[in-house]
Amino acid sequence: MVLSELALRLNSAEYKNWVKAGHCLLLLRGCLQDFIRAEVEAFHRLILAATPSLGPRASCLGSVRCTPRARQFQPQCQLCTEWKREILKHHTNRNGDIYWGNCKPERWPFDPWELAKAFMPRGLADKKGPEECDAVALLSLINSCDHFRIDRKKVIEVIKCRNEIMHSSEMKVSSSWLQDFQMKIQSFLNEFRNIPEIAATSARIEKLLTFDWAVHIPGDDQLDGPKSDTKIYLSESEISEIEMELLREKLQESYLQAEGQAIPPEEVAKHVEAMKIFLKNNKDLGSSFEEEMQKLEDFHLQHQTVRAEEAGKGRLKEFL
Ligand SMILES: [Zn+2]
Repeated sequence: MVLSELALRLNSAEYKNWVKAGHCLLLLRGCLQDFIRAEVEAFHRLILAATPSLGPRASCLGSVRCTPRARQFQPQCQLCTEWKREILKHHTNRNGDIYWGNCKPERWPFDPWELAKAFMPRGLADKKGPEECDAVALLSLINSCDHFRIDRKKVIEVIKCRNEIMHSSEMKVSSSWLQDFQMKIQSFLNEFRNIPEIAATSARIEKLLTFDWAVHIPGDDQLDGPKSDTKIYLSESEISEIEMELLREKLQESYLQAEGQAIPPEEVAKHVEAMKIFLKNNKDLGSSFEEEMQKLEDFHLQHQTVRAEEAGKGRLKEFL
């Protein structure tokens, strides 16, 4: 019998672990969205209650001069200056990098989500709500904004795990890594055990990480042996959907890392190459990501050319 590309991929226990861990992140994101939306609205209301002059009746007088760029923001009107001060007061990373470029300050008086973006990582300027954000964006918000009263060490541990998942060029994690991840994600979710939706997701994640996965092919129940109580059965399309979403996030992450020069160009090249080989070997996934791969490769090539030119100029200077 010929195994599908998906079945072959899942034969690798470490790849299966990677997809399972990623699936947990997607579930985590899903269960945090409503909670975050409500909390961000409450946070915005609290600020306006304490300082009514920041509310919707005020407006930015600086227009384009009050536009932040990346980590830089020099507000030119009194309203934006006061908002900046207020945001810094609540920012747990006020002495580090803040991606002001995510925000449109003129919307702060009336749009709670615009306020939330000041507490999130770069690259989120066009996101209009928590439903458009990935897990790390929501976790960073919880970590960076003091409105969220939670043991921050637990958030940071989950963020670290998420980064290890997304930065794994092989797209593999070991079973002991997965066990460790389970402990950390559940310890984080336990902080929200009073919220039924989050508690339900926590139980689902526990089951997902404890049980084995098997592909259920309709009409062929014998493929993975008899049904078992220790397995979760998913259809091919359910698993593919999870893989697609993870790969899309991974590609976006690689692009943001390359663009922000967060990792050396050699690392970017390694990621691009590994992804190319993976997608070539897995044509069922590959065709969906042509556009993202092209964007990443173009950026990498362009960056290489600029670096080569700079190196050339440097050498020329040595002779002058
Ligand atoms: Zn302004």
